[in-house]
Amino acid sequence: MTGMRIPIVMCHGVSAKLTPERLERYFGIAADLGFESIGYERLAAWRAGGGALPPKPIFFDFDHPVRSLHTHLLPLMKRFGFKGNLFVNTLPMEKLYANGGHRAPDREWMTWEELGELKAAEWGIGAHTHTHPNLSILSREDPTGERLRWEFETNDAILKQELGVQPKDFAFTGTSWSRAAEDEVRKRYRFGRLWIIGATYEADGGSIRYADLAGVPGPDEPDGGPPLAARYITKALDAYRLPSMELEKLIFEYEAYRRYLEGAS
Ligand SMILES: [Zn+2]
Repeated sequence: MTGMRIPIVMCHGVSAKLTPERLERYFGIAADLGFESIGYERLAAWRAGGGALPPKPIFFDFDHPVRSLHTHLLPLMKRFGFKGNLFVNTLPMEKLYANGGHRAPDREWMTWEELGELKAAEWGIGAHTHTHPNLSILSREDPTGERLRWEFETNDAILKQELGVQPKDFAFTGTSWSRAAEDEVRKRYRFGRLWIIGATYEADGGSIRYADLAGVPGPDEPDGGPPLAARYITKALDAYRLPSMELEKLIFEYEAYRRYLEGAS
């Protein structure tokens, strides 16, 4: 027995592929299989040996403060008793308010009040840099790490000021990673989360197999993704290289999604 494997799915809210109907079906499948959503607080307690998890825990992660999280995902997930974890890059928020776009009926982003409603509904709020740089490229352009630290500091400060949140957890941007970014993330945050859309990752200005980055042995799978063991959170996995499975990619088809969830036990 290798211990519990926790599925973690990720998306950026409603999209052309992820219609509200489709998202509802994914949550319905998870609910039918008996899954309960958890967040990073409970993960931290469990990994430290101080807290039990539900029998079938699952993470529903989201990146970017997109409006559909408030209009669609929050009420939809509430119906199933699920809560999400949202990682916020703050430049879109700054721009939204700078040009009065927060009053526009067709705006793309949430307001701070709407983000506050997610927080009040006990969604986790994490850090995702300010300008969303490619961290792999940035590590080459910024050898001193000054811009990198500015990204984290600015993001944290705005989330603190506008939401009263001191982010503890971080989601790496895109499929980009660097040693320098991870070193800084380890100093500032409790967890670092990656994003699986295929078998490779950008790292330190080059390319790496995702499985090698995550330290998971074995060949990639026929579906074009890393070994199955790399797709779940476990107790043994490095806290700063947690996975997340993009809903629009490898687990988009309902059967692939169901197999992924069933593969947790
Ligand atoms: Zn992002």
